Amino acid sequence: MERLRIFTLPLLLAAVILLPITSCEKIKEATDKVGEALNRTPEGPGPANQPDPTQILAEEPDAVMPPPPDPEEARKAAIVINKEARVSILGYHDFTTDERPRSDMIINIDDFRDQLQQIKDAELPVISMREFLDWKQGEADIPAECIMITVDDGWKATHTLATDVMAEFGFPFTVFLYKKYVGVGGRSMTHDEIRDMIAKGATIGSHSVSHSNMAKKGGKSTDDYNKWLKVELEESYQFLMDNFGETGGVVKIFAYPYGIYSDQIKEMAIEYGYEAAFTVNGKKTKWDVDNLEVGRYIVHGTTLANFGPALSFGGGSVSGAGRKLISESKNEDGEVQGPLVTMTPAKDANVTTRLPLIQMDLSKLDGVVADSISMRVTGLGMAPHKYDPETGIISYQLPMRLRTDSCGVMVQFNHSGSNDVEKIGWNFKVDQLAEYLSKENSLIVSPMKMNLPTEDAKGQPVAQPTTAAN
Ligand SMILES: [Zn+2]
Repeated sequence: MERLRIFTLPLLLAAVILLPITSCEKIKEATDKVGEALNRTPEGPGPANQPDPTQILAEEPDAVMPPPPDPEEARKAAIVINKEARVSILGYHDFTTDERPRSDMIINIDDFRDQLQQIKDAELPVISMREFLDWKQGEADIPAECIMITVDDGWKATHTLATDVMAEFGFPFTVFLYKKYVGVGGRSMTHDEIRDMIAKGATIGSHSVSHSNMAKKGGKSTDDYNKWLKVELEESYQFLMDNFGETGGVVKIFAYPYGIYSDQIKEMAIEYGYEAAFTVNGKKTKWDVDNLEVGRYIVHGTTLANFGPALSFGGGSVSGAGRKLISESKNEDGEVQGPLVTMTPAKDANVTTRLPLIQMDLSKLDGVVADSISMRVTGLGMAPHKYDPETGIISYQLPMRLRTDSCGVMVQFNHSGSNDVEKIGWNFKVDQLAEYLSKENSLIVSPMKMNLPTEDAKGQPVAQPTTAAN
């Protein structure tokens, strides 16, 4: 009997009951319909003749009533989050006008400006901490590949040098302050400088009270250690709220001093309600990364190391099957065979043109589905590649000069040899100086069987490869 009654319910009830097995889009549709039905203003003959939808629902006494749609749930369900998006978070410390910084943790301000220019040229959007957290919390989406900028400690030059450069580019940034180094003179920022920095686009987060290695118990008793950790985590944030809370620039986030943390520290940070905590492990942050272990690329001022990898989104995500395709293999007779798929420029090759022709040779694969092929290039997003089924070659000529010293490419396709989508990503290096010095924009690649371009973007003949890349 019960079951029969369910079938007699209006269609909109059925839509609500089916909610759990429908997609987000459909959930939104369904909840919209319910909302419409409930809020609709009567038309036509007037209220007297128009049955009130809420009454219809109420007058079905034995009906299995679905819970009324929770507007908050419905709103969240309607938000589409790109869980494949990746954020490269940069970590800086101190800035200087000296040509040669004394330490890796200090960067020359012109080098810094140059790095921001590279981010801009690569068309990588820079997101704010709030945007990052909203994405992690399923509240809002972010671009597929983007950058976030953080600065640690509270050095005066963060205000006197870096803030204006950040403002030149309109990039939001986050500064992690530790209580004992706020407004204490010397090279620490004053309260007013911090307020000015917030007014110019900075978000403030906690970097502990004392800037000690929090995982080091030292001679403390367990009880004392626990109390001390609590102070480092809680008092540091409270201090920021007390002093800068009214600016609206303080966010409940934490940067572990030296990037060092333990399970206990993480748990205490969760308990205290930190939205996220940051380490110094240089890797891209994906949606499913633990919010209390978010990695950052610490950019070194003397070697400028870490910046190239931080800006490169192409590599590091070759699917298992894709890896086999680009590796050497042995046939049944034990003979070594070259890779089935080859790329130009090769992985890690150094090219001496800033306008490289990117190619992938799929001629050794059967049943490549032309429509399934996609190519993404760092900073450009989806590239309008060409695919020639005759030669089996995918190609894409970069339309504008690469200004970064590394370029990443990701190609995906289906072929009859595998049920899965093949994903092949690789990076190559761009020798900016070599192109500058050389008259011929020749392409230096690893030797491989591939149809190479006979001329470059300027119509100059391209030297055929004879040199192996390092
Ligand atoms: Zn620090």
